[in-house]
Amino acid sequence: MIEFNDVSVTYSSTGVDALNNINLTINDGDFVFVVGESGAGKSTLIKLLQKEIDATAGQVSVNGFNLTKLRRGRVPMLRRTIGVVFQDYRLIPTMTVYENIAFVMKCIDAPKKYIKKRVPYVIGLVGLSHKASSLPEELSGGEQQRVALARALVNDPQLLIADEPTANVDPALKYGIFELLKGINACGTTVIVVTHDLDNVVHFGGRIIRLDAGNVTIDKVVGGDE
Ligand code: ADP
Repeated sequence: MIEFNDVSVTYSSTGVDALNNINLTINDGDFVFVVGESGAGKSTLIKLLQKEIDATAGQVSVNGFNLTKLRRGRVPMLRRTIGVVFQDYRLIPTMTVYENIAFVMKCIDAPKKYIKKRVPYVIGLVGLSHKASSLPEELSGGEQQRVALARALVNDPQLLIADEPTANVDPALKYGIFELLKGINACGTTVIVVTHDLDNVVHFGGRIIRLDAGNVTIDKVVGGDE
């Protein structure tokens, strides 16, 4: 579960109030779209969740961690409960698809036997079994996005955050990325998607949180077309 209680963020360097008195609860298993214009505070919200930055005021809690009180040394424990898909993918160019995904399991000292079983499974989940030995440069934007998704998922996070997952993807393939995220959510993972892609938001439905100049101006569930 994620809870924001009266959370504000002011960047001291510029004095900009990026978030103002945010109160939010996101329950386990929710599917949430975060929308808003550039500068509205979306990235700041996402950074707070991973304790990349701290709230200037208020309390944030994520997956049982009270981030206000969380010591630096325990931040990696928090981050293990969160998978993040970045819009620029951040794949390692010299590693194959398989290696890119196995790498994040090795980072948390997962047993070799489990890595051997789990990596092909998640590669299959994102529909890339035939590309397991390819390098990132040999893949399309949509395929690279799927690898990034598989990598975010492989350690079975409680929360998946996707930052503009369709920003660099061919329009025809955007739908498939949203479909994958919905499938992941259906298996119990909480999913937060930051997006400008309102067509797909409306089509798929879910909870929409809209930020405007650091304030939540809309928080509602839309039904979806299906
Ligand atoms: P979004 O992700 O919706 O585009 P951000 O959270 O990046 O919005 O930014 C919210 C506000 O905070 C903007 O006015 C932005 O200029 C400001 N801001 C973001 N990051 C910083 C920073 N590191 N230092 C100072 N101001 C920042």
